[in-house]
Amino acid sequence: MSHRPLSRSTPLYIIGGGVIGLLSAYELVQAGRSVVVLEQGQVGRESSWAGGGILSPLYPWRYADPVNLLAGLSQQAYPALITSLRKQTGVDPEWVRSGLLILDGSEGARAQAWATTVGERGIVAPAPQIELLKGTQVNELEPALGSVSDQAIWMPQIAQVRNPSLMTALRQWLLGRGVEIREGVQVQGFRQCNGRLVGLKVRGGEIEASHCLLAAGAWSGQLLESVGMSLAVEPVKGQVLLLGARPGQLSRIILHKGRYLIPRRDGRVLVGSTVEYAGFDKTVTQAARDDLHQVAISLVPGLADCPTERQWAGLRPGSPHGVPFIDNHIEIEGLYICTGHYRNGFVLGPASARLVVDLILGRQAQLNPRPYSIKTARAGDAA
Ligand SMILES: Cc1cc2nc3c(=O)[nH]c(=O)nc-3n(C[C@H](O)[C@H](O)[C@H](O)COP(=O)(O)OP(=O)(O)OC[C@H]3O[C@@H](n4cnc5c(N)ncnc54)[C@H](O)[C@@H]3O)c2cc1C
Repeated sequence: MSHRPLSRSTPLYIIGGGVIGLLSAYELVQAGRSVVVLEQGQVGRESSWAGGGILSPLYPWRYADPVNLLAGLSQQAYPALITSLRKQTGVDPEWVRSGLLILDGSEGARAQAWATTVGERGIVAPAPQIELLKGTQVNELEPALGSVSDQAIWMPQIAQVRNPSLMTALRQWLLGRGVEIREGVQVQGFRQCNGRLVGLKVRGGEIEASHCLLAAGAWSGQLLESVGMSLAVEPVKGQVLLLGARPGQLSRIILHKGRYLIPRRDGRVLVGSTVEYAGFDKTVTQAARDDLHQVAISLVPGLADCPTERQWAGLRPGSPHGVPFIDNHIEIEGLYICTGHYRNGFVLGPASARLVVDLILGRQAQLNPRPYSIKTARAGDAA
């Protein structure tokens, strides 16, 4: 299929105003391109609002290299991105290097071997820092912990962002650069002519479009079905609790048996998360509330006194082994895809956006796009 790189005068339509859509818009604007974001609801209110904002895969050694490659590049890109957004919008995305303390100490040897290997092979550069802690070292590092574990894996470099603040900052930055954001516009299909994209079908009409990026999160697979393409992206529900803890009550991100606690700058603690295959249902349940609350107080007994301020759910865009699809559509020229970031849309976002924009502009890609291709068979195990 031939490739028409996006010219400066042609608008690119992005379907989906989540973190992936907005970061892609940010990259395109930096490259001097004109962008229109089409969002069926409100920008940044779906998975990207719901998520925890940990800037690392939960157990990175359980993921295949393509995920860690994007994670490593994004981790490097975040400080400059945050500084630029904060300076230019006045909104602070609360990037904090809280470190990640993993209480599943039995995975320590595997974690260390992984860090050495990905460092030596240049998958993650510099190599991830991993320290194994024993006995009192665990509680010295995080005194709020109960007696959960006497072995732990400590990743001091890991940071977090506060998702709603990052999404607000991105939205304001884009609006300030003349990006058109159309909310309440649901794209229902694509119109093509001789294998080229010519329009987007929306309720009550059509938008003329020669270039489009599909970044519709968990809904991406559904939308592609309208052009007869099957993409393995499915909604995976995650429920979360927010506890009204005091500033300083907990300092580190804690992870144990797949559940985590994230201390925010204002003291609140986010407790996550469930992993549920329930279609597009986002209702929250008492069972999840009880379970997450129990996890929180068993890890940090002091949280028992803190009120549960909120409970919510989001739909992660699940993909095989958590490797996102970043590619052009096989048969429709002008249609690009960046989706399927599953549990890692924030940590993989900046590098994914950079890669898809490299493809759209016909630039030399920063990394090999093949592992993210729609055609590539997937291998590896993921958390
Ligand atoms: C509980 C939970 C915890 C998480 N924790 C973390 C974490 O700690 N770290 C991390 O990196 N990631 C985390 N994630 C994952 C991360 O949030 C997602 O991978 C990421 O938000 C996906 O971004 P997205 O832009 O692809 O999707 P979304 O944010 O869902 O955005 C897609 C947008 O497309 C819009 N859309 C869909 N269809 C259409 C259409 N037809 N027309 C127009 N608009 C459309 C939707 O309304 C939506 O706004 C978590 C997710 C959840 C749910």
